Amino acid sequence: MAGNWEGEILVMHGFSEPFPLKPRLGDLAAVLLVAALGVGVFLAFLPGRAQTPETLEIYQDGELLRRVSLLEDQTFVIQGAYQNRVEIQGGRVAIVASDCPGEDCVHSGWQSTPGQSIVCLPNRVELRILGTPQEGEVDGVSG
Ligand SMILES: [Zn+2]
Repeated sequence: MAGNWEGEILVMHGFSEPFPLKPRLGDLAAVLLVAALGVGVFLAFLPGRAQTPETLEIYQDGELLRRVSLLEDQTFVIQGAYQNRVEIQGGRVAIVASDCPGEDCVHSGWQSTPGQSIVCLPNRVELRILGTPQEGEVDGVSG
């Protein structure tokens, strides 16, 4: 009988040992949480294909008027049948003012996603946002 008791005490002693592990489990949970957040941040950047807006192409009547950098804050006016006042600020671009009917271009607001464009139909203007090409996609560029 005495031997059984000792055995139980030993088992209980054995159970008491994992307790110092509890903080480690907490750490593990924290690590997993941080990892999950990291994956979340990673996924959040995926839709943009890891591209950052870099260049703005200005088209009028379907022809490329000029290319401007989205990395420099600037304001300019595109002259046509109407006037589009374009503003570049912090890598984003918007037509901030226009005398075109409807002012749909102004209403489209600030854009910064590569591949997106702001269009002013009455002025036949298109502002196309280009991003930095991703690694591996450079080969596809020709001319
Ligand atoms: Zn417009």
